[in-house]
Amino acid sequence: MIKKGIRRQIVLHYFIVVFTALLLVEVIFLLAIRSYYYDSVYSHIYGYVKNAEDYYQKFRLFEEENINILSDMLANFRMTSTELQILDIKGKVLINTTEFNPDTNITTSDIPQAISGNMGRWVGRQPSTNEDVMAVSKLIQINGEDKFILRYTTSLTTVNDKLFNVTLLSLGIGMSVLGLVLAFSLGLANSIVKPLNNITAVSAQMAKGKYKVRVKGDYKYELGELASTLNHMAEEIVRSNQVKDDFISSISHELRTPLTSIKGWGETLSSGGFDPEETKVGMQIISKETERLIGLVEEILDFSKLQHNEMKLVVGEVILKELLQEIMLNMWTKAEKKYIKLVLESDDNPVVIGDGNRLKQIFLNLVDNAIKFSEENSVIKIVLTCYPGQVEVDVQDNGLGISEEHLNRVRDRFFQVSPLNGGTGLGLAISQQLVEQHQGTMEILSELGEGTIVRVMLPLVEDCGSTDENTVPDE
Ligand code: ADP
Repeated sequence: MIKKGIRRQIVLHYFIVVFTALLLVEVIFLLAIRSYYYDSVYSHIYGYVKNAEDYYQKFRLFEEENINILSDMLANFRMTSTELQILDIKGKVLINTTEFNPDTNITTSDIPQAISGNMGRWVGRQPSTNEDVMAVSKLIQINGEDKFILRYTTSLTTVNDKLFNVTLLSLGIGMSVLGLVLAFSLGLANSIVKPLNNITAVSAQMAKGKYKVRVKGDYKYELGELASTLNHMAEEIVRSNQVKDDFISSISHELRTPLTSIKGWGETLSSGGFDPEETKVGMQIISKETERLIGLVEEILDFSKLQHNEMKLVVGEVILKELLQEIMLNMWTKAEKKYIKLVLESDDNPVVIGDGNRLKQIFLNLVDNAIKFSEENSVIKIVLTCYPGQVEVDVQDNGLGISEEHLNRVRDRFFQVSPLNGGTGLGLAISQQLVEQHQGTMEILSELGEGTIVRVMLPLVEDCGSTDENTVPDE
């Protein structure tokens, strides 16, 4: 017995469908073959009866009804291996070829059919011999008057034997087909259930946290897809776990540095004995490091808000050029430390509908990255260009660049090419989501060792109306 499950369902479905179809075909086939055999017997007798009738009509052999005439008739019209009876029109046997019980009355359904002028036909069991027979009866008229009924009775034993053999054969074929179907459906069910069991076992292991296990085996079609999706999922979990681990270690580092500095200065200042100038420097460092810490925590909070769709934009008109100028001022000192020159190129003055603070956050992060990953004495350009219906802001640097391998991962949360550079790996992920919240797009074009362009496209309600006829850049 197959235990409950897909295997049993498949086998049962196939079995029921094929069994029903076979049963139907066999019944129709056997009925057709039975009717064919019986019809052949009937046609054979029918031909004989018709001949007898024609013969009689032509020669009008029997003008008078007496036993001699009946005997002649019996002799003339008899048919081999068939009993011929001549009956009166009430169905009483007058004479028959077997000399058996001539006086009996025949009451089978072929007699009333014959009396009504049709060819009578009856199939049933002959009580005297207890065998299956077919009787064919025909009324004979003399001078328009109903006179006799010719009744031929033939045994159906041979035909029934043949039918029995055909039935046995077709049942045998049916059973073999059913057996084949069972074997085939079991094979098919196994080919689905075995991989499924394997995949279930592997996913149970994964559910316990063992993400190194993989579904092995070259499965086809949907099962193959399921197996590779599960394997891919495990790889992604391992990867994101790795990214999270990296994040935790880099964020711990990021937090420890300012905290150590704050703690150090706090302890130093509390021991007393410093002049006001030294105390001022200490306090400034504590304040700067605290600000850094707040920045870090805010970045993490922002990301969490964006993840849960809780970030609400305070939308208004933003003059983009002014916003970018402000960013240049904010980042000036940081750039100065690396002797980096910040340049803003813009002939237009577009007005964007958006959240000024969030837009500022985007570009601050992009310029901060550009400074962080650029060599000393380099130039960072912020280029603002207007197109019909949208504005493009490129933040271009000639710094480290990003390899092709890492390019499509830098926007993943917590991803950093090297955790040693500081930061959280959340900047680009946050920028990307904020740009999307402004119905814009963010594209990163970079080549390792050559530099990077981060291109932000934002929609414009009104065109800039600049003198330059810019066309939309190629996708
Ligand atoms: P973070 O700067 O805090 O590490 P980001 O999400 O802003 O996080 O950036 C992710 C990573 O992408 C960075 O760690 C860096 O490896 C790479 N990256 C971002 N901007 C640049 C750039 N302008 N030049 C080179 N690499 C960059």
